[in-house]
Amino acid sequence: MTERAYLDWNATAPLRPSARAAMVDALDSAGNPSSVHAEGRVARQIVERARAQVAALAGADPGQVIFTSGATEANAMALSPGWLRPGRPPLERLLVSAVEHPSVLGGGRFGPDRTHVIPVNADGVIARDQLRALLGGMPAMVSVMLVNNETGVIQPICEVAEIVHDAGGLLHVDAVQAPGRIAIDINGLNADFVTLSSHKIGGPKGVGALIAGPGLHLGDPLIAGGGQERGLRGGTENVAGIAGFGAAAADIASHLATEAAHVLRLRERLEAGLRAIAPEVVIFGESADRLPNTTSFSHPGLRAETAVIAFDLAGVAVSSGSACSSGKVQPSSVLAAMGIDPALSQGAIRLSTGHATRDADIERFLSAWTKLSESLLKGRNVIAA
Ligand code: PMP
Repeated sequence: MTERAYLDWNATAPLRPSARAAMVDALDSAGNPSSVHAEGRVARQIVERARAQVAALAGADPGQVIFTSGATEANAMALSPGWLRPGRPPLERLLVSAVEHPSVLGGGRFGPDRTHVIPVNADGVIARDQLRALLGGMPAMVSVMLVNNETGVIQPICEVAEIVHDAGGLLHVDAVQAPGRIAIDINGLNADFVTLSSHKIGGPKGVGALIAGPGLHLGDPLIAGGGQERGLRGGTENVAGIAGFGAAAADIASHLATEAAHVLRLRERLEAGLRAIAPEVVIFGESADRLPNTTSFSHPGLRAETAVIAFDLAGVAVSSGSACSSGKVQPSSVLAAMGIDPALSQGAIRLSTGHATRDADIERFLSAWTKLSESLLKGRNVIAA
């Protein structure tokens, strides 16, 4: 296969060598982490080491980390009315921002009649006055992501936390796209729950974690079973997957500054090039705080589904809107919530990079974009590019 440029790190990040090595080691451990014998204790040590590594990435205590099958499950677990707080009644309502991942927008275990959507402004930033109005001084579970997977827009979580806590509620933060790009600290953010996903940070797919604040207990676990994960998530742990997740978390934690600076430099080159080639390019969420690795853009006349194929044929992997909705041709709910004209959002392309992205990958993309935009300007279908 000829060399390709992979610019879809927000869909999934390539496996880090440290994660692969930790997984291979763990695959050779025979024991079940719940067994008391020596083999079991080795497996338990692997899981607990990873728990400490994941906790450290989010500034949490290891005891706060609950391993799951991924962020989708962690989000479903967080969005449960059954979370108990000492001396407080269960929460009856859920408020979610309009730009959440579908696993949050679905409301988890709160019924549709108990789930309300908090609007965002044209940059995709949550409307704090509307959040306050929806709360009306009453407690609720509130879910607002730290950064958006499509646009990279960063939410003012500390401010949101203050509003939610003033009303006596709990705040869940889907931080899946943040590690390695911006710092996350559950205490600094003042969040009650944080969701992480292994495969977005260079660990294996199919592992994630919910980090829950102290004193919170889930009365009715999503998956009941043999008492694993403090009784909050039954099932023998995915020891090798968890080991890879932990190793990726440790890798990221020790390279944040250099990796973030690297992707920011690439993004500046990418966005300057996009515009120089086609000045009518629109970059979504441009005036908000954004992740250094993400660019979501469109151009009048562009059709994302054909553009993704044209880029792919040119050896460049990009996604249209969010990866979860690509393949089904449907407008991005994130861009719709930002009030973007559907004629423009139908052409939305997401570019996302990581620590292993090279300058040559950006140049490969820009040369494909040059050809594609030439055919756009001539009014031809982009598939002909
Ligand atoms: N939240 C966000 C913001 C995401 O980007 C994703 C993955 N697209 C998820 C949740 C779901 O993650 P997982 O694949 O681990 O279930």
